[in-house]
Amino acid sequence: MLHIVVCIKQVPDSREIRIDPKNNTLIRQGVPSIVNFYDMHGLEEALRIKDEQGARITVVTMGPPPAEKGLKECISLGADDAVLVTDRGFAGADTLATSYVVARTIRKIAETWGPVDIVFCGKQTLDGDTGQVGPGVACRLDLEQLTYVNKVASVDEKRRKVRVHRLLEDGIEVVETSMPVLITALKELNKVRRASLPGMIRAARYKPTVWTTADFPDLEKAKIGLKGSPTIVAKTWVPEIKAVKTHMITFDSPEAAAAQLAEQLMTKEMQTLLDWSS
Ligand SMILES: Cc1cc2nc3c(=O)[nH]c(=O)nc-3n(C[C@H](O)[C@H](O)[C@H](O)COP(=O)(O)OP(=O)(O)OC[C@H]3O[C@@H](n4cnc5c(N)ncnc54)[C@H](O)[C@@H]3O)c2cc1C
Repeated sequence: MLHIVVCIKQVPDSREIRIDPKNNTLIRQGVPSIVNFYDMHGLEEALRIKDEQGARITVVTMGPPPAEKGLKECISLGADDAVLVTDRGFAGADTLATSYVVARTIRKIAETWGPVDIVFCGKQTLDGDTGQVGPGVACRLDLEQLTYVNKVASVDEKRRKVRVHRLLEDGIEVVETSMPVLITALKELNKVRRASLPGMIRAARYKPTVWTTADFPDLEKAKIGLKGSPTIVAKTWVPEIKAVKTHMITFDSPEAAAAQLAEQLMTKEMQTLLDWSS
């Protein structure tokens, strides 16, 4: 049976987020966490494959203990197992350290529950937003990587082949490659399902497997947490919102409005704006 791992991250709900105007940092207090929505599309695709041809799905996250809530949500939707990797030693991780630990975790999952055929990640997160963790994990595990996937066309377990559509700037690219493979999910991939009542009951009783640094004796300490994170956040700021001059068009008839609009579009000021936006 196929074994699919889905990587998820708990992120602050961006609809609720505010910026502290004094120091330009995110106000996280009181902001609810949600599972990054691209990751939910990765999970949905894994569930769709499971529904069609059978698969075992393991969800994984590296994060603080409250990240368990996100894993339980995935269980309620139909994931089979969940792993929380948590330890003070992992705190302060940038994308380099995160992908190192997530890759090691997937290797341990494979050793514990059997070889992994497909890994799903989101295209990016709503908070960090780098899109680096998926490719970082693929490189470390020497997996084929398929990024920006908006359709999984086929998963052929016998031939060990996966065919996907990748959404590129200038069209769709259809690619077939061999498993094991890492896929980064776009929101166009599918529509995320809702949890069923039995799913919710299972999730309420479910206890995720928790691994700490002690469970990874060969982890290089210099590569985890703050120590393993060479990224420096030099500055953060809130972009200045500039007031835009509004041109009002009053008219008696649609023809008169069109004539006025055409006249205004031909002004030098408007031409500069149009040149800038093209
Ligand atoms: C110096 C520094 C210190 C930081 N300290 C902290 C900290 O203490 N706590 C903190 O929460 N963040 C911290 N961050 C942010 C953290 O580095 C990133 O959020 C994290 O590395 C993931 O990067 P991203 O959000 O850009 O993910 P992306 O690369 O945009 O994520 C792509 C996909 O990778 C997968 N993924 C990403 N992160 C995880 C994860 N943790 N577990 C499983 N799968 C994952 C998901 O599928 C996700 O959709 C810090 C960043 C820096 C630069």
